[in-house]
Amino acid sequence: MASPSTDLHFVLLPLMAQGHMIPMVDIARILAQTGTTVTIITTPVNANRFKSVIDRAIEAELNIQMLELQFPFAESGLPEGCETFDLLPSAAHVVNMLKAMKMFEEPFERMLQVLCPPPSCIISDGAFPWTADVAKRLNIPRLVFYGPGCFPFLCIHILNKTNILDEIKSNSEYFALPDLPDHIEVTKPQASGWGKGNRKETKEVFEQTQEAEKATFGIVVNSFEELEPIYVEAFAKAKDTKVWCIGPVSLCNKSFQDLAERGNKAEHDCMKWLDSREVKSVVYVCLGSLSHASTEQAIELALGLELSGIPFIWFIRQTREDFEKWLLEERYEERIKDRGLMVRGWAPQILILSHQAIGGFITHCGWNSTLEGICAGIPMVTWPHFAEQFLNERFIIDVLKIGVKIGAEVPITFIEKDTLEVMVKRKDIRTAVEVLMNEQEEGEARRMRAREVGEMAKKAMEEGGSSYLNIKLMIQAIAEEVAKKNKPIEDIV
Ligand code: UDP
Repeated sequence: MASPSTDLHFVLLPLMAQGHMIPMVDIARILAQTGTTVTIITTPVNANRFKSVIDRAIEAELNIQMLELQFPFAESGLPEGCETFDLLPSAAHVVNMLKAMKMFEEPFERMLQVLCPPPSCIISDGAFPWTADVAKRLNIPRLVFYGPGCFPFLCIHILNKTNILDEIKSNSEYFALPDLPDHIEVTKPQASGWGKGNRKETKEVFEQTQEAEKATFGIVVNSFEELEPIYVEAFAKAKDTKVWCIGPVSLCNKSFQDLAERGNKAEHDCMKWLDSREVKSVVYVCLGSLSHASTEQAIELALGLELSGIPFIWFIRQTREDFEKWLLEERYEERIKDRGLMVRGWAPQILILSHQAIGGFITHCGWNSTLEGICAGIPMVTWPHFAEQFLNERFIIDVLKIGVKIGAEVPITFIEKDTLEVMVKRKDIRTAVEVLMNEQEEGEARRMRAREVGEMAKKAMEEGGSSYLNIKLMIQAIAEEVAKKNKPIEDIV
């Protein structure tokens, strides 16, 4: 294979949400490591979260930079500083965010027009369909990145193509997804979290996204071929486009600093605590960058973990006053101090997951967390909340067979802060954790499968591995496309 052209300049436009920013920044560094120039364009708050990792990449002499687009607060109606999905004051503000995202088209294009060297390819988050028009005007290829893997993606594609959801009246009955290689059952609400959505605005973006895809050069997926071979193939066929699986991209993080500061700075030195625990004895609990547990649900989780008697480390990204009050009144942390640690703030997730003390992961099944659990080779308790997370749960449980369901049935509203309902009861939390960590045959078999898939993930990213090769092939394909576009007309005809 010819070595990639170092004249290429990739411009990355990630969605302003940690679950999209984090893998895009990893992709940026992977591309820059091959010798290409890379520019990430985002807003100041998002840029600030990744400043140190980009500074380190620059110090390591990678051709990488981050440029800032000013956020249109006044025009979008969002409060100052709310530049990212996890900072939105309520679910109702998603519409304002979508409005703001449309306003980036002009400043983004102006930025690209003066870039040096000129951009050769845009890698756009799917949520910015207008980048297809910009790419067309600048006569450069556009690649699209959505976030999830090929399995959830294929499910969503089938759901949209068949309109099967329109025929299903019940919200609680499970139905089998048609035309899938595995037998996968979900309920209508579980299948509706991603794609068209229920709002006019989300439907509009979805339709524009589909339209933009028609003119797109290919899809970049944070997955690896060995993880979901049938789904990679079926997805590429269904979409009738090139699909490059180039992950798990989190594995590009090698230095302690990069592992510890991925996405945000973790304040707590929890590693010492983990060092003091027995190998594979601790369950790590983290429900992603967007989910908010109600106080009632957080109490139920606290009690479920306590009842299980199994050591745990639980990261709560945003704690609530009434939950803190309950903790104090109940002397909860005192009660569990011999085997449990609660940390408020951002978790250094991949650092924790790779610690030898970790034996299980309670995850909300965000795709990044799912893949990070896979890379660590540990089994998971699945607790999906929204978006495509219920589909990811099915992948972990039914396809990979490396998980235990906690029993979440009904999706909660995106970044819902006020729900009082307890979706998962303490006894179910206790049972799921106990089943996950048990040392009987079934638990051992699950652990072995998790270890095997973790090994495959590492191999995929190593020199000669499938994702390593796909990165090269993708760059090569872009180089060829750029050469074709730059050819004088008379040479083409
Ligand atoms: N993450 C982290 N620390 C936290 C919470 C999340 O490092 O305290 C990272 C996690 O490792 C993953 C990303 O944030 O890379 C979350 O993405 P995911 O797709 O799992 O879920 P989302 O947050 O988008 O729902």
